[in-house]
Amino acid sequence: MYALAIHGGAGTLPRHEMSASLEREYRAGLQEALQAGSVILERGGRCLDAVEAAVVALENCPLFNAGRGAVFTREGGHELDAALMDGATLTAGAVCGLKRIANPIRLARRVMETSNFLMLSGTGAEEFAREQGFGFVDPGYFRTEARWNQLQRLLSGDASVSPLTISHVGTVGAVALDQQGHLAAATSTGGMTGKRWGRIGDSPIIGAGTYADDRSCAVSATGHGECFIRLAVAHEIAARIRHGGQSLATAAREVVHTELPAIGGDGGIIAVDRNGALCLEFNSQGMFRGSVHAGAQARIAIYPD
Ligand code: ASP
Repeated sequence: MYALAIHGGAGTLPRHEMSASLEREYRAGLQEALQAGSVILERGGRCLDAVEAAVVALENCPLFNAGRGAVFTREGGHELDAALMDGATLTAGAVCGLKRIANPIRLARRVMETSNFLMLSGTGAEEFAREQGFGFVDPGYFRTEARWNQLQRLLSGDASVSPLTISHVGTVGAVALDQQGHLAAATSTGGMTGKRWGRIGDSPIIGAGTYADDRSCAVSATGHGECFIRLAVAHEIAARIRHGGQSLATAAREVVHTELPAIGGDGGIIAVDRNGALCLEFNSQGMFRGSVHAGAQARIAIYPD
């Protein structure tokens, strides 16, 4: 038995802005990531390797807001955040404010496995990357015209543009249960379009945007990060299962459809519990997402089913 779910961000493009060919490209990107993770699980590999591989595939796809294709900061740069957690040991690694690392999730894993720390930021994180032999990319590597145009629209104050809609498209994540019964979660993002002052969202915060515990579930979130931090969303879902006896479906539904909206929190989560039950829940108009179970056909969706 294994299970894998991925997301490419909540708050998708409105349907009228999504052409058939763009939708095909998104679906192909999600399919490739699902495949990258599921081949590892299928042959009995570790859930950590599977979530990392799925997120690397999404970071490399320019359509999503992580790695190449990440959103721009207000100053026209990129600051990338990522985290990953091992549900078997409750160890985790996180990085934030990276400017020149192509695959932040790989660095987060290295932080977890070879440093004495959990979260490294900015220049310090990049210094660690250099010591670990990571390659550096030019800032132009992350640039796409679509993201640049989003920033320009936001800066122009165009009243027809919703900052929430354009800010939240494309954070990526993965959660998995492997055949050994272990759980893992990983999340990677460029954050919000036009962010400033070293803003860090929920994605690299363990318990907010990313969490995994073999005793309950693994969760990766996407949405308005400030709200997800305030509710410690990923841990809240795990705690409701572990301490409150709720099912994953109930815990996720209450957090995503009651608690988050109560504080204006837009977005969603993907999660898998220790029995392999998957949950992909969102309160936004859509969420790029996909899932697969051992022996079942992969599913990919963007808008509500
Ligand atoms: N949660 C991310 C952040 O606030 C953004 C997103 O998921 O779209 O940085």
